[in-house]
Amino acid sequence: MAIQKPEELSKINYKPPKTAWFDTPTEIKKGFFCWGNKEKSLKAVGFPNIRQWSVADEDWKLPENWKEIFIEGLRERVNKYRSFRLFLDICVRCGACADKCHFFIGGGDPKNMPVLRAELLRSIYRKYCTTSGKIMGKIAGARDLNVNVLKELWYYAYQCTECRRCSLFCPYGIDTAEITILARELLNLLGLNIEWIAGPVANCYMTGNHMGLLPHTIMDIVNEFKESIYQVTGINVDPSYNRKGAEILFVHPSGEYFDPNGNITFLGYLMLFHELGLDITLSTYCSEGGNFGFFTSNEMAKRLHSKIYAEAKRLKVKWILGGECGHMWRVWHQYHNTWFGPIDFLEEPVSPITGTKFENAKSNKIVHITEFTADLIKHGKLNLDPSRNDNYIVTFHDSCNPARAMGLLEEPRYIIKNICNHFYEMPPQTIRENTFCCGSGSGLNASENMELRLRGALPRANALKHVNEKFGVNTLANICQIDRATLQTLVDYWVPGVAVRGVHEMVGNALVMKGEKERTTDLRGDPLPGKEGG
Ligand code: SF4
Ligand code: SF4
Repeated sequence: MAIQKPEELSKINYKPPKTAWFDTPTEIKKGFFCWGNKEKSLKAVGFPNIRQWSVADEDWKLPENWKEIFIEGLRERVNKYRSFRLFLDICVRCGACADKCHFFIGGGDPKNMPVLRAELLRSIYRKYCTTSGKIMGKIAGARDLNVNVLKELWYYAYQCTECRRCSLFCPYGIDTAEITILARELLNLLGLNIEWIAGPVANCYMTGNHMGLLPHTIMDIVNEFKESIYQVTGINVDPSYNRKGAEILFVHPSGEYFDPNGNITFLGYLMLFHELGLDITLSTYCSEGGNFGFFTSNEMAKRLHSKIYAEAKRLKVKWILGGECGHMWRVWHQYHNTWFGPIDFLEEPVSPITGTKFENAKSNKIVHITEFTADLIKHGKLNLDPSRNDNYIVTFHDSCNPARAMGLLEEPRYIIKNICNHFYEMPPQTIRENTFCCGSGSGLNASENMELRLRGALPRANALKHVNEKFGVNTLANICQIDRATLQTLVDYWVPGVAVRGVHEMVGNALVMKGEKERTTDLRGDPLPGKEGG
C-alpha cells in the first residue's frame, strides 16, 4: 500500500466518531497490523491452537471453546496478579492519559487513547468478573465477548508498544502497558499472536537468539567485524566465545550481528574490550539479550530469560555485562527478581579496571554497558578524541525501557558529552522519563504495519525536527537495538538527513587505542573530519 507524503500523513483528524465507542465498529485496516503468526512458529514452542491463519480472513480458526478459554484465562490472571485487577478496577476515566500515547497523537484513533485501549479489555472483565457488570451490563460499562470484540482487542493490543509513557501521567499510577501485556497473553491462549513476535520467539528458543543465527554463522560474522576494525585501526581484536572461566559474560541483542546500524555499535564494544584487556567472553548459545517472549507471555519471557543464567553458570563467570538493548533491561529490572530472586552463584559486579562496585546490580549481577563505560570515563581510564565525531551533531533519544523502566538517564548523556563536541537536547517534555517511543517497539517492527509505525513515530520526529532545524542536529543517538533497526526508516521519512547511531559506535570512533595506526575514517568508512582528501 502506498504511503502518503509526510505533509498529508501529518494532517490528523482528531474528531471523534458520532457514536459511542461501544457502538463504533472497528475496521481492521491494512498498514496498521502485522501478519498473524505462522503455524511453524507456534509449533516450535508448543503454543496453543497451532494452525495457519490470516488476519484478513473472516474465520480466524479459533478453538470451539475459545470464549471459555479466554474468560477462564482472564479470571486466572485477575486472581494471580494484584496489579492487573487494580488497574482494571480503579480507572476513573479522568482522561489524563488520553493524549499521551504516540499512536493517538500521530493517528487520531480514539481507541488508541490509553484509557480506551484498556477499556476494551476492562469491559470484558466487568462482564465476566464483577457483580455490577454481570447484573447491569452496559450501564456498568460491561460488554459481551464475541468474535468482533476479540478481533478488536487483538487489533489494538498490537497497536500498543508497551512503552509506559501513559502511566507517567495517570494520577493512580495505572500502567496501561501491563494491561496490554496481559491482553496479549490472553490472546496467545487462542493462538492469536503476530509472526514478527512468534517467529523470533521460536528462533530464540531453538538457537538462543531471535535471528536464528547458528554458532558458525555468528563466528563468520564476527570474523568480518574483526576485519572491519583492522581496516580502520590496524589493530587485531580477538573476542572470545564460549570460554569457560572468564570473569565476565557479555550479552547483547542479536540484531547487532545483523542490522547495519547495530553492527557498528558492536564494533565499538569489541574495541573497548580489547583496549581494556578485559577477561570477557561472549556466547554463541546465549546470543540474545532481548526477549520477545516478553511480548507473548510471562512464562515464555521467563523461559527465554533463564538461558542467560544457565550459560553464566556453565561458563563459570563472575558477573554479566549487557549491551545496548531496550526491553532486555526492562525484563531484567522489572521482572527478573520476581521470577528468580537474587542470583547466588554469581558475584556482585566490580569493574576490574576502576574497582567500582556496581551495588545496583547486587541481585541480578548484570551491569549496563553505559554504566560500565561512564565509570571508565569518570576515572580517566579511556583515551578519547571527541573531535573524531565532529561530523556528528548529536541529540539523544531515550529509549523507553532503559529510561522509564530503569532510570538510565545520565550515563548515556555523560558518555556522549565526553565523546562528541556537539550535543543538543530535544525539548524537555519529549526526553528522559517523558520520552516518546520510536513507534516500533514490543515486536511491532514489521514492514506491513508501516503506516502505524510512521504515525507512532511522529511525536519523536517532531522533537527531532525541532533540534534539526534549530541546531543542525544530524545524528540521533540511542541505546536500543530496536531503535537502531527501526528508527532510520521513520527518520528518513519525517526528518531526512538525520542518521541513527548507537552510543558505542561513537565510543569506538573516539577511542584512541594503544598502537593504532593513524585513522582516516570512522567505523563506517566515512572520512574523519579533516581527512576528506583521503
Ligand atoms: S503504553 Fe505506550 S503505546 Fe501503550 S497505550 Fe501507553 S503510551 Fe500508548
Ligand atoms: S489517567 Fe489513569 S485514571 Fe485517568 S483515564 Fe487514564 S488510566 Fe484512567
